[in-house]
Amino acid sequence: MSAIPDSSRVLSFEDARRVVEHEASLVHASQTESVELLASAGRVLAGAILADRDIPPFPRSTRDGYAVQSADLSKLPSMLQVIGEIKAGEKLENIPATIGRGQTASIMTGAPVPGGADAVVMVEYSSQHGQQVEITKQVVSGENIVPRGAEAQKGSPLIARGSRLTDAAIALAASAGNSKLQVYKRPRTAVLTTGDEIVAVDATPGPTQIRNSNSYSLAVQIRQAGGDPILLPIASDDPGRLRELIEEGLNHDLLLMTGGVSMGRYDLVEQVLSEMQAEFFFTGAKIQPGRPVVFGKCQCGAGAPARENAGTYFFGLPGNPVSTMVTFELFARPMLDALAGMSPRKLAFVHAKLKSEIKVKPGLKRFLPAILSGEFENSQVELVAWQGSGDIAATARANCYIVIPPDRDRIPAGDWVAVMIR
Ligand code: AMP
Ligand code: MG
Repeated sequence: MSAIPDSSRVLSFEDARRVVEHEASLVHASQTESVELLASAGRVLAGAILADRDIPPFPRSTRDGYAVQSADLSKLPSMLQVIGEIKAGEKLENIPATIGRGQTASIMTGAPVPGGADAVVMVEYSSQHGQQVEITKQVVSGENIVPRGAEAQKGSPLIARGSRLTDAAIALAASAGNSKLQVYKRPRTAVLTTGDEIVAVDATPGPTQIRNSNSYSLAVQIRQAGGDPILLPIASDDPGRLRELIEEGLNHDLLLMTGGVSMGRYDLVEQVLSEMQAEFFFTGAKIQPGRPVVFGKCQCGAGAPARENAGTYFFGLPGNPVSTMVTFELFARPMLDALAGMSPRKLAFVHAKLKSEIKVKPGLKRFLPAILSGEFENSQVELVAWQGSGDIAATARANCYIVIPPDRDRIPAGDWVAVMIR
């Protein structure tokens, strides 16, 4: 009862990724909820946030020093009359209405620059005696001042709909007075582990049994991608039971399966989905780890969530734990991003120098667990020693994947290689 191999649907990494990105572009998140500002970190914004006032709301001094007319400093040293002191948050009535020729006001970082002044001289270039200050450095007009509205003008968009809420975005939302944000609901993502040998984490495994770990790595990745993981019961390698659980999984926004997609006699996932008239976009990608990865869509879940682009997307991720993790990152994440309401983004890579030579068989694009170390221009990377794509222990020691193009069989030490951070 093995799944029928269909090599025509084994795509290059790039083609497989394009297919996912295309399908993801057809998905539109619609359900939203209002959440407390801090709870919205990592979520996706459902409506643009606008500036409720100019930022900065006044011409802001970026230094402690003296607000001056720059023209007064054409000859140095220059002696100016101090007509006020402006601290951050100073009441308007305490701020000199204007700084005239030969005058200055001492000013603190973050304080409003008074009228008439066009620059701020840093306190380091001054010495004040009573109401007189001697200035020993010239400034150009505008120096050490951020003009009112230079960062954003009232009413202009600060954060676009579809943005992931990072620390900076949360800070920006706070600065515009938003204690709650409207975000998209988390896509409910079913996780279905398959395999006769797999037992629950709290079970005592028999001598040939394996504890389920993939559901947990996937749940973490789903959370990180803004989804809500729902762990289904473990499916045995039995077509009837598998079908029941796949049907249940398809009633969610996305179904991720792990295991049962290779060429083994008991790899039944594709077969069961074919019987359910599922559409397959690909049934393999020329990558390692993760070659047997499956991506498709099925109209079959009776209670599938109603949406324009009918049907539920599913991924069959290979069961080897590292394959599951890698194929999630490469393929499932963009779909989850889209379901979470996020604008599409490309995979991001950094580059580092290879510490020791790598030899591989060409033909597959490889994403191999590695350790990135060093700082600044001395970034170095090396593979972790591993026993192949079942080796979770090695992967837990890794902090990245080295990406090896399919046409390379040897990369010498010292070459720059692409690295995907994990
Ligand atoms: P499969 O893709 O079903 O052929 O499984 C490949 C390998 O991954 C086998 O060694 C399985 O025992 C292992 N495996 C499958 N599912 C899991 C899981 N949920 N947790 C840990 N290991 C798994
Ligand atoms: Mg299996």
